Amino acid sequence: MPQRQDIQESQERLASSAVEFGRKLKFQKNNAFQVELQRRVDEFFLFTGRQKRDCPQMYVKTAILLLSFALLYGLLVFKAQTWWQALPLSILLGIVAAGIGFNIQHDGGHQAYSSIPWVNKLTGMTIALLGGSSYNWHWKHAVFHHMYVNIKAHDSDLDIGIFGRLTPHQQWFSFHQWQHYYLWLLYGLMAIRWQLYDDFHNVLIGQIGERPYPRPTGWELFIFLMEKGIFFTLAFGIPLLFHSVWVVLIFYGVSAIALGIILSVVFQLAHVVEEASFPLPLEDTGRIDNAWAIHQAETTVNFARYNPVVSWFVGGLNFQVEHHLLPQICHVNYPAISKLVEETCQEFGVQYNEHKSVWAGITSHGRWLRRMGMPNSIE
Ligand SMILES: [Zn+2]
Repeated sequence: MPQRQDIQESQERLASSAVEFGRKLKFQKNNAFQVELQRRVDEFFLFTGRQKRDCPQMYVKTAILLLSFALLYGLLVFKAQTWWQALPLSILLGIVAAGIGFNIQHDGGHQAYSSIPWVNKLTGMTIALLGGSSYNWHWKHAVFHHMYVNIKAHDSDLDIGIFGRLTPHQQWFSFHQWQHYYLWLLYGLMAIRWQLYDDFHNVLIGQIGERPYPRPTGWELFIFLMEKGIFFTLAFGIPLLFHSVWVVLIFYGVSAIALGIILSVVFQLAHVVEEASFPLPLEDTGRIDNAWAIHQAETTVNFARYNPVVSWFVGGLNFQVEHHLLPQICHVNYPAISKLVEETCQEFGVQYNEHKSVWAGITSHGRWLRRMGMPNSIE
């Protein structure tokens, strides 16, 4: 089956590039669970006639999100006359930008949007509207995060700086005891740091978090500069033609903080909660004591699976278990395959973690932060 072959080949490519640019970290070889899950999912798509990618709902969603972004941006920059008009518009712009990231960019970046490579490339480049880089995102998210979820020094999503201690294996500082209060505010600044500093710093030093990666060159460097250029033009260049520097900076800040909080919270609910595990490689073999797919399930947690509004907006990122096991399937299919994934996990004795609501996930994240902030959480 060509689609299945595509997925396997692409997973192998990711694995070999992750090993090439970092320390060699391997998983146990027993992949019976993964093979059976893949077989059942392939059978499901064959039987139902559904498409893994190029789903019509996804194209409709793309149009809705991009048109909303254009409308809000136009109203904010060209129409708004007062702060009480600009404030809700800039918050909404940040929310819609997050929606573009969760849905269009994330699926494109994972080759889950379409079976046509250039469509994925183009949709992945909508990260420019959020101020990011599709090249850096590929390495940080699709390679380092997806290959090595919740493994310290390998999963770059765990490196949020000195102020956040997310795993028992990270260094503890006394101020971490207040992290379950202040980190929510710092999440708001994450997007600003990423837009204005992290991407440039990473490219200059050839490193993401603690891991080296190949700097972009040639065409990739051109795309990096173009994406950043689009963002700076939209965020500062055009608005400065019509408004004062302070007005532009304030409403850029409001929009970026809304974006940062939403992106951070949605990603933290998936892996940084009480139910997720944070394994380390075994000291004697240097291997993770689990097969790759089982590791993915045990380090990942779903939330609000049956809430259609949440599922629509977060682009299926509330089905994180399904996403981590099958990242190249368009997210609009996750609700349909979720039961099948859950049953296969149960049959193989693999943990299937979930929170029933967004609030249950948020409170669990808060409790985990408080626990990681206590001095006796050092391992
Ligand atoms: Zn992903």
